[in-house]
Amino acid sequence: GSSTELSHRGQQFLMALFERNDKDNDGALSPDEFKRVFSACPTPPFSSDIKRTVATNDKGWPTQHGWVCRWMLQTFIELPKTLEYLAYLGFNVHENESQTSAIHVTRERRIDLAKKQSSRTVYMCHVIGMKGAGKTALCRAFLVDDMKKLKDKDLRGNNQFCINSVLVYGQEKYLILRDIDVRQVLDPLQPSEVICDVSCLVYDISDPKSFEYIARIYIKYFAESKIPVLIVGARGDMEEKRQDCLLQPAEFCQKYKLLPPQYFSIKHNKRDLFTKLGTMASFP
Ligand code: CA
Repeated sequence: GSSTELSHRGQQFLMALFERNDKDNDGALSPDEFKRVFSACPTPPFSSDIKRTVATNDKGWPTQHGWVCRWMLQTFIELPKTLEYLAYLGFNVHENESQTSAIHVTRERRIDLAKKQSSRTVYMCHVIGMKGAGKTALCRAFLVDDMKKLKDKDLRGNNQFCINSVLVYGQEKYLILRDIDVRQVLDPLQPSEVICDVSCLVYDISDPKSFEYIARIYIKYFAESKIPVLIVGARGDMEEKRQDCLLQPAEFCQKYKLLPPQYFSIKHNKRDLFTKLGTMASFP
């Protein structure tokens, strides 16, 4: 029930590493600089092409914020690899008691749930919806402020994970969006696809067949769980169609005591959607 995060020391080490390797001081790691950071490692721990995973500059190169985010993600989903690379990269075990001082193990989630608040810094949000419901655009909007800069090809294909930070009552929290790709409508979700800190169920307001799927998902997996859920109507700038199901989204949310559906469109990229998800994860 616990998760792993970079401690303050771990973050400081990785930020200093970035600054040392950002030779031209442009605030981003070019492919050459990226290669140099990992020159002492057998292979880089992740691809230099991380513009779909973290915030980057206009050229698609990770900024310092994006760099720290990428390591936060690494530490959350695959701790052994973070520890392995901290060793390659020279995390100093003489200045620090041991390598584990780069890592913080959080309190068990069930205690957070019982107290209805958590002091974690990193939260996992699962983004669930039918193919074509608008999940990809939503994940991209989390990393890119001005969606007009994106071309069509940027909106096709998605990484499984993306991460950025949000401010929750003035505190910086990192939110990982995991795109749960559903191939077949009737495919059951695995427990690992359900369990998360906050769930974002996405439907397309202009597609009458879109809501029923997430309504079923909600009832089957989330209604009895303690996981906070936010229903999001994507393509919020389109004409809203009546959904082919018994309860319309707003009625459904009312019945299950959920926040009303939040509308999202890439034309009016409102950061408050992500802040809401971060807040719900922090105060489950
Ligand atoms: Ca640079």
